[in-house]
Amino acid sequence: MRVRRHAPIAVRIWTRGSYDCTVLEKGEGKMIIGMQGAKRDGVREQRIAKVVELTPPGKLIEELPLGEERTKAVIRGRQEVVDVLAGRDPRLMVVVGPCSVHDPKAALDYANRLAAQARQLKDDILVVMRVYFEKPRTTVGWKGLINDPHLDGSADVNAGLRIARKLLLEVVEIGLPVGCEFLDPITPQYIADTVAWGAIGARTSESQTHRQLGSGLSMPIGFKNRTDGNVQVAVDAVRAAAAQHAFAGIDDTGAPAILHTTGNPDCHIILRGGHGMPNFHPPEVEDALVTLGVAGLPERLVIDASHDNSGKDPEKQFFAAGEIADQVADGNKAIVGVMLESFLVEGRQDLRPGEPLVYGQSITDACLSWEDTVQALDRFASAVQARRA
Ligand code: PEP
Ligand code: MN
Repeated sequence: MRVRRHAPIAVRIWTRGSYDCTVLEKGEGKMIIGMQGAKRDGVREQRIAKVVELTPPGKLIEELPLGEERTKAVIRGRQEVVDVLAGRDPRLMVVVGPCSVHDPKAALDYANRLAAQARQLKDDILVVMRVYFEKPRTTVGWKGLINDPHLDGSADVNAGLRIARKLLLEVVEIGLPVGCEFLDPITPQYIADTVAWGAIGARTSESQTHRQLGSGLSMPIGFKNRTDGNVQVAVDAVRAAAAQHAFAGIDDTGAPAILHTTGNPDCHIILRGGHGMPNFHPPEVEDALVTLGVAGLPERLVIDASHDNSGKDPEKQFFAAGEIADQVADGNKAIVGVMLESFLVEGRQDLRPGEPLVYGQSITDACLSWEDTVQALDRFASAVQARRA
């Protein structure tokens, strides 16, 4: 179902910092082929409505370069994540931020607040900001800022990529390592140089395309257990992503290319619950570690306190976070990271054409409030202190 067009709220008002983001609304590319009329040869692309030019990755990167200082920050962030995952760094990685970014201004407000907390707690936790632009949906719905930046079904992907990259540069500049979910196999070319940690979602952990993608990405990748709770597929994904692969994609100029990967040794599983049931309690954590051991993989994991680990209920997420912190405080070193869905305002809201949105509240999954996030971060920091003692 297509949503009716309305004023692009998020993009229009984003004018903070060194970028004039008002120009970003015009991203739609040149129409290459209009398919609605004559259907070419009557055989190919019978269900493609139109084909629109997509900016090549190299061109966007040239327009919005990472630059020397931010490059150093990304390399440092990735190394810190690798060290925490490997247990060489005794801290806990906390990937925290909104379920999805729909308003870059609110995301930047959030990033500034989070950076202050991250600095305060840096001896105990490694804070990575969730900056998610691609949303896998169970059926249909808004698919994230890259796919539909104007929140109106216009699918202005060129603008989406540009807005996403600008925001990522700002978050890196603020001093936070970035965490992203990778869903589309082509979009990483446009943004992955800014990312310190990546995730493959519960709906795609079993997909060969995503495992191959993970094997070629430059940062550690977490694979979620499947939505039905199956952990084995995530373990299989970690093994598959560690191997070399070759797959079809695009190069920097946008030309079709065969990408040969080296394999990614820095992957891990993420427990996110399944079928409405949590899997963050000690027995399920132990089961998952055994499954990893049987596969010959390092016995380490990240736990997502949201999604099926809390029925997407912020109150339950807060308590789940507390129970995960207790396991860390009790000395469980295999828990190397946690994930929280958090924004400025608690809960979620529906995106309704023409209706204003509450500033700083999620339009996808319900999030913890900022105040509860601060408390949860403090609790994780104390838990790490107890684990070290
Ligand atoms: C998410 O991180 O918002 C998400 C969709 O998670 P999952 O893949 O675990 O459902
Ligand atoms: Mn979510």
